[in-house]
Parts: sequence; structure tokens; C-alpha cells
Amino acid sequence: MGENAIEIRGLEKTYAAGKGSPAKPALRGVDLEIPTGSVFGLLGPNGAGKSTLINILAGLVVKTAGQVTIWGFDQDVNPRQSRASIGVMPQELNLDPFFSPRAALEVQAGLYGVPKSQRRSDEILALVGLEDKAEAYARTLSGGMRRRLLLAKALVHNPHVLVLDEPTAGVDIELRQMLWTNVRRLNEQGMTVILTTHYLEEAEEMCDEIAIINAGQVVARDSTANLLDRLDSKTMIIHPETEVTTLPKAPGIEVERRADGSLALSYQSHQTPAEAVLEAVRNAGIHIRDVKTEQADLQDVFLELTRSR
Ligand code: ADP
Repeated sequence: MGENAIEIRGLEKTYAAGKGSPAKPALRGVDLEIPTGSVFGLLGPNGAGKSTLINILAGLVVKTAGQVTIWGFDQDVNPRQSRASIGVMPQELNLDPFFSPRAALEVQAGLYGVPKSQRRSDEILALVGLEDKAEAYARTLSGGMRRRLLLAKALVHNPHVLVLDEPTAGVDIELRQMLWTNVRRLNEQGMTVILTTHYLEEAEEMCDEIAIINAGQVVARDSTANLLDRLDSKTMIIHPETEVTTLPKAPGIEVERRADGSLALSYQSHQTPAEAVLEAVRNAGIHIRDVKTEQADLQDVFLELTRSR
């Protein structure tokens, strides 16, 4: 595969008007490239258009305009191949209550035309930790087990791209960690992973690249590290050797004395180099016992970018 597992150009979606609700665009000209082999996060407030985007990729929602290419296959030119390249773990727990996990995987494999000789149901059940439940009815599975079965179903046709729609919303910590371990392992084996999440720390920890969507448009798209760098304000915390009598003073630096005797110096890292902050501290006759810096997290970037809707 080339550089990008997915390429989206000029994507638009307007759902048909309902009774009393006028047609309103859900996606308004989205261009997005998702690099092969990445873990890519789609973030945005409720109603931003994330599910619409994912459902278009999955072939579940028909786009109004634009071009979607998955694993080199244009959705309109090669719909079958583009669909076979992607697996989607949906948000809703829509499982047939009468199928056992193994049967559910076999049915799914059948839908994707995976020949019997190439099916890996037991291997996939083991991967998600459901081997003991292979023959249990879906209705007897716990919520967490159902989620794992949904992940397993997304994997039966061995897709190149795995899409997870809010995979850890409302799940307990143990299951969340298990899901992330699985996702990391699949990614290490070469699978490109796209996920939506409301948990910003999760995106920060899991994703190499992030797109922030707001009101149907991509408002930011960058590596996680670069996005975090955008919020430029940093705070240097200085623990002095002895009590401070004179506070440091320099242009572009705000100083606050904290209750534990430390000093918090806030500055914009692009305007004021860390060295200038340290110099101001030394000039005030302060001997530094310890120093650390704090910086904005994804939550701050996110709020800044989605504040004005
Ligand atoms: P997100 O997943 O980011 O919360 P969605 O893609 O679900 O956002 O929704 C984007 C917009 O499209 C919202 O205004 C939502 O009300 C609308 N929308 C989503 N699905 C439908 C649908 N099936 N019919 C009509 N409008 C919809």
C-alpha cells in the first residue's frame, strides 16, 4: 500500500430532511488522508459528523458528494474491494441473541465471502479472550464480552483498516485496557486503526495522528505531538533552595508564588525561550533546587479549536 490507507476528498453529506427538521449538512467538504500503519484519532464534539464519516467509510451511509479511496480502491469504482479492506466495530451492541460467538463469526465471514479454509474464528475468539464462550448464546454474554465479540466480528475478513467507533465509551477499566492491548497488537502487525473517542487522554496516549472535526469540517489535523505544541503556553515550576525574597521579573513571564514555596512562571514558549525564564530566576538571586515544566494537554487544544461553533 502507498503512503495513505485512506484518502478522502471534498466529502459532503446532507441527510434528507425529516418531518419538521430541515436538511442540514453533516459533512461540509472534508479532505483527509490517513497514513498507512497509523493509529488515527477522530475527535470532535457531539454532532460534529464523526459517525457520519465513519459510516460512509464503512459503506453504511451514502455520501452526497466527494471521493473516498480505501486501500487504493475508490469506493464508487471498486465498492466491493474497498469494503473488503475495512472492518468496523460499531458503537451499538447489535448482536443476534441466538448466535454463539463462533456462529456469529462464521456468519460474518460468510457475508464477506471468506472461504471456509481461510476462516480463523477460533484464533480471533482467542485474540479477544472469548475462547471459553465460543458456544454461549450472545444474550448470555456480559456487556464487555459483547464488545469484544463486536471487535472480533470486525476482524473476520482480515481487513487492512480497522475502524473503532467510541470503542471504550462506558466500559470498565479492565476491558478498556484489554481493548487497547488488542488494538496495539493489531497495529504492530501492520493494521491501520481509526478510532473516535471522547476520552482525550486516550487519544493522546493511543493516536499518532489526530483530526479534530467540528460542525462537519476538519478544523485541525496533525500529529498528536504537534497538536499539543500548538498550545504554546508553558509553566515552569521552580523549587528554590531557600525562601524567595525578590520575585523574578522579565517581559513575557508571569510569576505566581505557590503555597508550597515554589514559583510558577508562565510564558509563551515561542516568544520566550526557557533560557530567558531561567535567567530571570537567576537574576533575582534564586538558587534552583528543582525545576519542572507543565504544558497544555489535548483538552486545551480541543477546547480552543471547538469553542466557537
Ligand atoms: P458525531 O458522530 O460527531 O456525534 P454525527 O455524524 O452522528 O456526529 O452527526 C452529524 C450531524 O448529522 C448531526 O447534526 C446529526 O443530527 C445529523 N445526523 C446524523 N445521522 C443522521 C440521520 N440518520 N438522519 C438525519 N440526520 C442525521
